Amino acid sequence: MVEDEVSLANLIKEGLEDEGYSVDLAYDGEEGLYLALNEPYDIIILDIMLPKMDGIEIAKTVRSKNIRTPILMLTAKDTIQDKVLGLDSGADDYLTKPFSFDELLARMRAILRRSFGEVKNTVKVADLELNLDTHEVKRSGKVIELTSKEYALLEYLVLNKNRLLSRTDIIEHIYDYNYDFDSNVIDVLVARLRRKIDKDFDKKLIHTVRGVGYMVKE
Ligand code: CA
Repeated sequence: MVEDEVSLANLIKEGLEDEGYSVDLAYDGEEGLYLALNEPYDIIILDIMLPKMDGIEIAKTVRSKNIRTPILMLTAKDTIQDKVLGLDSGADDYLTKPFSFDELLARMRAILRRSFGEVKNTVKVADLELNLDTHEVKRSGKVIELTSKEYALLEYLVLNKNRLLSRTDIIEHIYDYNYDFDSNVIDVLVARLRRKIDKDFDKKLIHTVRGVGYMVKE
């Protein structure tokens, strides 16, 4: 998230973390552009009016480098020109300030669904079912309670099913930029998730590729 209003940025980061997202914050345009170009993100929330470089310039630069990360733009002014300019510069959607947190979440979910090629709010692998909106997880119809980090890991694995994900991929997606890297944390988290998702079932869905990482497949 690139936003120079520090208190608003911190408030949204906290709210998103409560929802299980991990969030990096940049308070000016240059830092925002640097992160957008150098870190893999699922979505960029981008304010337009920023110190050092504005959001329009950032979006144009990101797209000129062929980075397809979805961009949700925050527009202060409710003018048609601003929205058109934002979308034309490479944003996927926009939200006019002030906005409700619920609307931000709903727009993020819609954008993330589209970017992962899902049209429904539920994703299935064998008899495992995730609801991307409510974060409810079921296996064989039975609800499984997960912590927000366990859910974040499972969702990342399921949305990338049949793809091998390294520990670094996983850390970068479910922890924020300031996280002190310790790949052991991922092994512990995967072990906890396995106990809840796979242990009581014959068919195992979470697979380990020794020395490399993890994969969800049928
Ligand atoms: Ca601003």
